[in-house]
Amino acid sequence: MTAPIRHPLPIEDRRPHAVVIGSGFGGLAAAVRLSVRGYRVSVLEKLDQPGGRARVFRQDGFTFDAGPTIVTAPFLFDELWTLCGQRREDHVDLLALEPFYRLRFNDGSSLDCSGDPDVMRANIARIAPGDVAGYDRFMAKSAEICRIGFEQLGHVPFGSVMDMIRVAPDLIRLSGHRSVHHLVSRYVKDERLRIALSFHPLFVGGNPFTASAIYGLIAHLERRWGVHFARGGTGRLVSGLVDLIRSQGGTVRLGAEVRHISVTNGRATGVVLAGGEAIAADVVVSNADVTWTYGRLLPEGASRRWRPAKLARASQSMSLFVWYFGTDRTYPDVPHHTILLGPRYRGLLDDIFRRKVLAEDFSLYLHRPTATDGSLAPAGHDAFYVLSPVPNLAGGEDWSTVAEAYRARIAAHLEATMLPGLRDHVVTSRIMTPVHFRDELNAPHGAAFSLEPVLTQSAWFRPHNRSEDVAGLYLVGAGTHPGAGLPGVLSSARILDEVIPHASALAPR
Ligand SMILES: Cc1cc2nc3c(=O)[nH]c(=O)nc-3n(C[C@H](O)[C@H](O)[C@H](O)COP(=O)(O)OP(=O)(O)OC[C@H]3O[C@@H](n4cnc5c(N)ncnc54)[C@H](O)[C@@H]3O)c2cc1C
Repeated sequence: MTAPIRHPLPIEDRRPHAVVIGSGFGGLAAAVRLSVRGYRVSVLEKLDQPGGRARVFRQDGFTFDAGPTIVTAPFLFDELWTLCGQRREDHVDLLALEPFYRLRFNDGSSLDCSGDPDVMRANIARIAPGDVAGYDRFMAKSAEICRIGFEQLGHVPFGSVMDMIRVAPDLIRLSGHRSVHHLVSRYVKDERLRIALSFHPLFVGGNPFTASAIYGLIAHLERRWGVHFARGGTGRLVSGLVDLIRSQGGTVRLGAEVRHISVTNGRATGVVLAGGEAIAADVVVSNADVTWTYGRLLPEGASRRWRPAKLARASQSMSLFVWYFGTDRTYPDVPHHTILLGPRYRGLLDDIFRRKVLAEDFSLYLHRPTATDGSLAPAGHDAFYVLSPVPNLAGGEDWSTVAEAYRARIAAHLEATMLPGLRDHVVTSRIMTPVHFRDELNAPHGAAFSLEPVLTQSAWFRPHNRSEDVAGLYLVGAGTHPGAGLPGVLSSARILDEVIPHASALAPR
């Protein structure tokens, strides 16, 4: 008979400790990377589920991704599993969409955006035959901007002004000082096509009329690596990363709100939770909004560069109104992603970004994930969300009084354009307004994408991934370099590999 196996007493984990505040994609990716680089990692999340803007609402048999639905540059996700010796495909299935999305213009015409250049040319020839050659030239420019702006510079830490000076000639050559809309207008004349090729900064909270032409790279990024949807919803990427962190010996604690980052002699030494629990750390990475991190989590005066007055002057991105709803019938003709453009483009963007007033008209993004994955709703039902870019709360809108009327206007518009009979078929419903972004996600003015992506808040001008004032403090996520969107926040975590020492360089506790 074999002797019973005696388990040894657990050995104290003496790896240097990294605390990550927040479990958005930036925080989760940072946690994976730090665990690979020898740290014992603890992710502390204030909400009762991980993912931040990418958390999941489940109700009445429907699954709604709260935020991101369009996955571009999937290799940035793949890399996280590869670093841990695993394969992303064994855990999360990414489905390539074709076409990527449909743009439906206010005059009733539409354009399906495809990854296949020939299909795309044919689609453009149908609405703007004179612009096909200009479109090809624009795509060549987009490829050049992507090669430099994303592949070369997307992972540069921009920690020193010299980094900025070094890239200035490239930025000027690529028209980085101009707007995306200005860039596109040099290549195509049809107003609808100008919209189709310039609206992408809205995906990261930017105004196509003021966001740098560097965002013109997104058209190529989509063609080069495709547009994907995670089977089961984006929430599967969140839970997949949480499992990955745990498989590396890390922890993800929910309902754990960090109240303060402790700083001793200019160095971050840990955090204190809302309940008073103090947690020591060798390295602190904040994935909370940068304005919140510098303005509320750090002791007053700890950062000389990001003082409250400077943060208050910073321009926050737009916000969003989102209506999640399920129907007891399906709409098989409605594609997975549709962008429904309203009667105004520049005027509406001016209302949202500059005048900060809630306009009567809107442009919408309609998400129908059940077009790709029926498991997200009961059989014979469809799951949807519709999103409307709106001003952030600096405009003073009182959402407690306008939200329901706004939702009803959107429902009527959808019923008239794409979803006949909608109002008789809604069986589940919830909304998210700028107030949710402010109160649940600590986003100043309820900004949906943190600091607005304008040139004066980009690269070296954007909060750095290594705090310049507090040793041992690092930042990831939408408000940091390089910016919002899944590729942006995953890249912010990738930069940590450049600026955080390997755990072996730190003395064990
Ligand atoms: C509706 C919507 C749709 C979008 N669609 C797309 C899309 O299709 N494709 C795309 O690429 N991007 C999209 N985006 C943008 C993208 O979702 C975000 O830029 C990205 O997810 C933000 O990630 P993050 O790392 O900045 O963290 P966040 O998601 O902002 O998460 C930060 C986390 O920190 C937590 N936290 C804050 N303070 C504390 C504290 N004191 N203690 C503990 N925890 C704290 C918060 O609760 C939150 O969980 C969309 C955004 C929204 C809102």
